[in-house]
Amino acid sequence: MSLDLRKVRNIGIAAHIDAGKTTTTERFLYYTGKTHKMGEVDDGTTVTDFDQEEQQRGITIYSAAVSCPWRDHTINLIDTPGHVDFTAEVERSLRVLDGAVVVFDAKEGVEAQSETVWRQASKYRVPRICFINKMDKVGADFAASFKSIRERLGANPIPVQIPIGAESHFEGIVDLLEMKAIYYEREQLGAKFRIVDIPAKLQDAAREARHELEERLAEVSEPIMEKFVHDEPIIADDLKPAIRAATVADLAHPVFCGSALAYIGIQRLLDGVIDYLPSPLDCPPIVGQVPDLADKSHKGRSKEKAKGGTVECRCDPTGPLVAYVFKVVAEKPVDVFFVRVYSGTLKTNSRVLNPARGVKENVSRILRVFAKRREPIDSAVAGDIVAVTGLKESLTGDTLCDPKHPVLLEKIEFPETVVSMSIEPQSSADRDRMLEALAMLSRENPTFEYRANEETGQTLISGMGELHLEVLVNRLRRDMKVDVRVGTPRVSYRDTITAVAVCEEEFKRQTGGKGLYARVKLQLEPFTPKEGEEHVVFESRVPEGAIRPEFLAAVANAVKDAARTGLRGYPIINLKIILLEAAEHETDSTEGTFEAAARMAFDRAAESAQLALMEPIMRVEVITPESYFGAVSGDLTRRRGVVNDATVRGGQRVIEAMVPLREMFGYATDLRSLTQGRGSWTMEPSHYAIVPPSIGDAIIAAS
Ligand code: GDP
Repeated sequence: MSLDLRKVRNIGIAAHIDAGKTTTTERFLYYTGKTHKMGEVDDGTTVTDFDQEEQQRGITIYSAAVSCPWRDHTINLIDTPGHVDFTAEVERSLRVLDGAVVVFDAKEGVEAQSETVWRQASKYRVPRICFINKMDKVGADFAASFKSIRERLGANPIPVQIPIGAESHFEGIVDLLEMKAIYYEREQLGAKFRIVDIPAKLQDAAREARHELEERLAEVSEPIMEKFVHDEPIIADDLKPAIRAATVADLAHPVFCGSALAYIGIQRLLDGVIDYLPSPLDCPPIVGQVPDLADKSHKGRSKEKAKGGTVECRCDPTGPLVAYVFKVVAEKPVDVFFVRVYSGTLKTNSRVLNPARGVKENVSRILRVFAKRREPIDSAVAGDIVAVTGLKESLTGDTLCDPKHPVLLEKIEFPETVVSMSIEPQSSADRDRMLEALAMLSRENPTFEYRANEETGQTLISGMGELHLEVLVNRLRRDMKVDVRVGTPRVSYRDTITAVAVCEEEFKRQTGGKGLYARVKLQLEPFTPKEGEEHVVFESRVPEGAIRPEFLAAVANAVKDAARTGLRGYPIINLKIILLEAAEHETDSTEGTFEAAARMAFDRAAESAQLALMEPIMRVEVITPESYFGAVSGDLTRRRGVVNDATVRGGQRVIEAMVPLREMFGYATDLRSLTQGRGSWTMEPSHYAIVPPSIGDAIIAAS
């Protein structure tokens, strides 16, 4: 299949919850002709929300990739979740997108999560266009929302439209490039519209906005600047390529407006996706590492080592294959893997290498996924996004490549889990099924973990928040039909060390025949990881050849494992483990003896390294009427919170604070009574911090 890459757009829609992402997606699918029946979120019949859970909650949780044709182009729409508990899912999707549509609520403007999403998109330099939605809603304010995009996001919004009317009088939009008015007919689901001259009452506003468009664009576009300073007329044909170039370079963010609910402005937004967001060819080549496949130490998750330099993976269908697994959907009979091809061509019935796991995998089928059906295809070229079946060991974040040209793309860093709870099957006969289902869920969700303790028979699940775990437990019960009981959610604590400690351990047994021997000397040091760095790092300072490479690998694995287990029941993080010395015996040393020696040395060193308990700190945003401001911020302080900022937005106080998660349980109820139900809030994990000793001691004593 030949796919004109210039005509592909890999995009996502991102938004604060309730801003209208699902409705906008639904309208996209409708207009691009893939669905013939319009679904309304309010009756839970939309197309991307095919998961029942989402329909019940009315929020989009699971990412799905959907292909939709528009104006002779293919838009691959990657669904990004809107809830903060699923930030990692958003990051994961952003990673494979070339561009995004960020949806705002015209009444609220920029909200907490839009800021989070914007920050993440900036991190990956994803070009964006903005859609100010809900122009039909009471309180809708285009100018204020536009201003908040500039001020709160530090973005460079460029108006390409202004609304005609607002609230119940919202009728259409003025296109600032063509300087025409477009009126939509709601009864026709927006499929019918009239393009007419700008009405007299809006002409001044339109001229002013057009001037702003040219002025802002001139700041980031040389050709427009030229015309602007020479006072030459600027026409629509000059503007489009200039806006496109500035947007693709992430220097400008064109702003559209409309109402997804009232079917206004959606086709123009789709045009905007095609006109302004990049094709895969516009994106810089992705850089991968050449893995050192001789190193067999990388068996498990995220333990791969990359040596041997970097390679640029160009978006070229004839190059060596490089593809990236960004989503696993655990299905019966086989898992479905959503993959972005970065280079080369992925073919059915082919063998690909997964270098992180050191295995070759079979690609048995490739599917193009539409909202309601999947179409088998023979191959997928660089730049495309498709679903694949047949893989057995691959997980989210893995690279698939040509076995002759191994490449490893950078993994997505997922945040630490912050909440955990116990889970048990209603009947012991269900235990195996429960563990199987948990394994499936953790394949789908990199931020979901479970640990079965063989000794106590207890299983713990951990995730990014109460809602995250609740959703997953519901999936277990409803979709996977496993009846489970769960305990109350608990904070996931960690330990860290506050002092340097050194310990030497000699493991020596002489029992008749062959002996056992290993000697290691370890140093533990407090360590502050930079963004993207692992929380526990291992470094060997023994001269090469002092012990065999497999023994070195055994030491590395054993100490990392020991750190995960911890001394007091909490994983130990933010530490560097240095192997200072090591000695082996010609015949008596094995990987097992080194593991044992390393573990003992680690535990003894950790004991004298002054452990300190760490707790997750949440970034909390509370919005409250002014009159409750004092009560709310006082309450946050009592919860050991630090209020960072309190601004006024739309007559309400917006409080931003850092608060330990431990103090936030039950906050929904407390805030309701503090503000007589008028306050609202969101939170997301920020970082781990050391618990004040008096509280830490109490937590440890109670556990
Ligand atoms: P999401 O959480 O961002 O996916 O938002 P939804 O699409 O689920 O929309 C949230 C709520 O806002 C639903 O009740 C929608 O019907 C409503 N909504 C979405 N778009 C609009 C709009 O353009 N105007 C108005 N008035 N309501 C809208």
